[in-house]
Amino acid sequence: MHASLVTRARSVWKGPFFVHFPNLQESIRSGTPIKTMARACTIMPNMVNAKFLVHNGKDYLPVRVTEDMVGRKLGEFSHTRKSFSYRLTKNKYKMMANQVQGNNNSINCVIENNKNWAAEIQAKNPDFFVNLAKGQSPKLLWIGCSDSRMAVDVLTQTKPGDIFIHRNIANRIPSEDLNVLSVIEYAVKHLRVEHVVVAGHTSCGGVKAAMSNDSVGILDHWLRPIKDLYLANEEEINSLPEESRVDRLGELNVIQGVNTVSKLPVVHEAWKEGRELYVHGWMLQLHTGLLKDLDISVSGPKQVENIYKLSTSQH
Ligand SMILES: [Zn+2]
Repeated sequence: MHASLVTRARSVWKGPFFVHFPNLQESIRSGTPIKTMARACTIMPNMVNAKFLVHNGKDYLPVRVTEDMVGRKLGEFSHTRKSFSYRLTKNKYKMMANQVQGNNNSINCVIENNKNWAAEIQAKNPDFFVNLAKGQSPKLLWIGCSDSRMAVDVLTQTKPGDIFIHRNIANRIPSEDLNVLSVIEYAVKHLRVEHVVVAGHTSCGGVKAAMSNDSVGILDHWLRPIKDLYLANEEEINSLPEESRVDRLGELNVIQGVNTVSKLPVVHEAWKEGRELYVHGWMLQLHTGLLKDLDISVSGPKQVENIYKLSTSQH
């Protein structure tokens, strides 16, 4: 996933230049090259496999587009005696300036939306924010993935103050991570939540990365335990159709998370006090928007051994 960002980075500083080739699909099918003088044309994903004859200032040279050329300029592959350089003309500079402005607008949109949201709630319930500022007593702690598609409040139709949330890449719960442990301790001991939900989701990029050999920088360290989990369950996971493997490993990761939470002293203390406290494992199905309950909820110390078995052998 990072490779594409790197290759696209070239076109970011040069500024994209889009050329529409009406006969592109036909040309890919038939293998007939498209003659063009558009050396500054940015290579788009739909141009992969197309053949071009690109003018280098003197002759038309053949260029066949491959995936790793996406984001670069056609002219970079149709060499002249002098090396091709892309000049930032006034117009292109203007275009880039507009793009920056556009980005600012989208941030302004967020602020604007927030103003509208606050005004709408204030109009319906003048005391809403006064009460919200007084404190919180959520009943649920949600430990989920940082993925932008896991919009917890939206997908659960809950209000501010309803859910205490911790999110990180691939919803990991390392038993030595001070961050997640502090969140759990605060939620269980002080906020006295009644439910802890460990929530993964389908097509998780973190889980996918853990299953691949590509390096993702510092994330390699963070995702290594998921790699270990994959190795421990390799036979089962690899017996599944390829498209189900990431999601199954995602489920196993959730099961392991539930297992970890269920063993924490702060959770056992709550049970010892006779408090009702459930630890659940859910998966958000991105293709339907629905939450799937993995049916591994733990509500007391007696179940802890069972859930441990579930994570290694029953699935
Ligand atoms: Zn994810």
